[in-house]
Amino acid sequence: MTDTPTQLFIGGAWVDAADGATMPVDDPATGEVLCRVADAGAKDAKLAEDAAVRTQEEWARTAPRVRSEILRRAYEIILERTDELAHLMTAEMGKPLAEARGEVAYAAEFFRWFSEEAVRIEGGHGVLPDGRNRMLLSRRPVGPCLLITPWNFPLAMGTRKIGPAIAAGCTMILKPAPQTPLSSLALAAILKEAGLPDGVLNVVTTSRAGEVCEPLLRGGRIRKLSFTGSTAVGRLLLAQSAEAVVRTSMELGGNAPFIVFEDADLDEAVDGAMVAKMRNMGEACTAANRFFVHRSVSEEFGRRLAERMGALVVGPGTRDGVDVGPLIDRAGRTKVEALVADAVERGARVLVGGRTPEGPGCFYPPTVLTDVSAESRLMDTEIFGPVAAILTFGDEDEVVRRANDTPWGLVGYVFTEGLDRALRVSERLEVGMVGLNTGLVSNPAAPFGGVKQSGLGREGGRVGIDEFLEYQYLAVPVR
Ligand code: NAP
Repeated sequence: MTDTPTQLFIGGAWVDAADGATMPVDDPATGEVLCRVADAGAKDAKLAEDAAVRTQEEWARTAPRVRSEILRRAYEIILERTDELAHLMTAEMGKPLAEARGEVAYAAEFFRWFSEEAVRIEGGHGVLPDGRNRMLLSRRPVGPCLLITPWNFPLAMGTRKIGPAIAAGCTMILKPAPQTPLSSLALAAILKEAGLPDGVLNVVTTSRAGEVCEPLLRGGRIRKLSFTGSTAVGRLLLAQSAEAVVRTSMELGGNAPFIVFEDADLDEAVDGAMVAKMRNMGEACTAANRFFVHRSVSEEFGRRLAERMGALVVGPGTRDGVDVGPLIDRAGRTKVEALVADAVERGARVLVGGRTPEGPGCFYPPTVLTDVSAESRLMDTEIFGPVAAILTFGDEDEVVRRANDTPWGLVGYVFTEGLDRALRVSERLEVGMVGLNTGLVSNPAAPFGGVKQSGLGREGGRVGIDEFLEYQYLAVPVR
């Protein structure tokens, strides 16, 4: 922790907030303050914007190979420092060290992937149908970007945006979540070490998100917003972006259905459920939120899932053998408690868990609820905690209708051994991604994103860089 930067990163320099403000970073496992970091205000945001705007033209002209190799070097440094970064992430966010190491590898992979994409940006050339004009198509960076990230994947949500922005030739301001600023500051230091020119990436940590971001979005100099967070905040930022017609990518909330048909391999379904529910303590946009299990296998599925969930070890993420760390803060835990209480009041049975432990930290036990009523609040709220809610269904049409009966559409999970059914149900689900007999979809090489109110655009995959590029079309007469 001693070497981790705690200041703002603007124009390649580490600086205090203009008004000297700082904010605490808490350890969710103990509730104690880990350290304080600079707390940026509007003045600092303006300085970061000046740096990004000033650097844009030169950065756009930098050779793709140079941009590519900076990302490649940063990828290698991140991997070399896996342990250090994992400890930092566990300290500020709470996830167990093994998961934090997994996130470091996942985060680094976005840099490797986009280092490869940086040198494959292609335009086009053709003769128009009338034969009188040629069409030259070139791709160019969209311009200075504002990147806003959540606390649940503090490193990977940053690299998933910074990677394609660097590859495309955009400059940027990153505003991480106030709960987890340290991973982003450490990442900025790594990119500087990897040779990123001053001013390309600027990081403003702040507890005053509105004061910092709104003038940037309305001011007309920022040309792109890439946001990951809740649908409510995404909606607000879309409205703010409308004024200066800022291009947006929105990775928003989810309400994933996890469907287990009567012909599923139940061992595989329970394995998948453990990943889809328990990755990141359930604090993931991709977390299975509603388990729809065919009534002929629901009893057995619930029993096996409860056994596995009940065997998980809860404790501080730094302790050996711990599977489940604390939730991010008291507010996050209070929300989970209220959702479980509401479900139980409406008739749900608790198969395991459900009781908040005494003592410090924001711990909540892995919990399985069955006979959950469709009217329960957790049916249309992201639980964001280690709670699996099981409902039963009778036939395919019914489960597809119920799974789609939500404003969200990020991801769905389908477990069945029937090929026709697997494809048919996947195609009928209104989601951007489907895990077919698997509980994990996230991969830097695949386009990640949702439909409906889960967002706009895709991150990762071949298309991830498109979000940071514009087309320019040149009409040239054929002479
Ligand atoms: P959040 O409350 O929406 O916050 C996300 C980010 O937006 C934070 O940095 C937050 O900073 C900032 N923010 C809030 N209000 C703002 C404003 N008025 N102007 C500018 N920035 C503002 O979400 P969260 O609780 O951190 O993260 C959980 C949510 O993220 C869940 O809904 C989850 O599903 C979603 N998520 C989606 C994906 C995906 O790829 N689809 C991935 C991960 C997470 P402050 O906290 O200071 O307000």
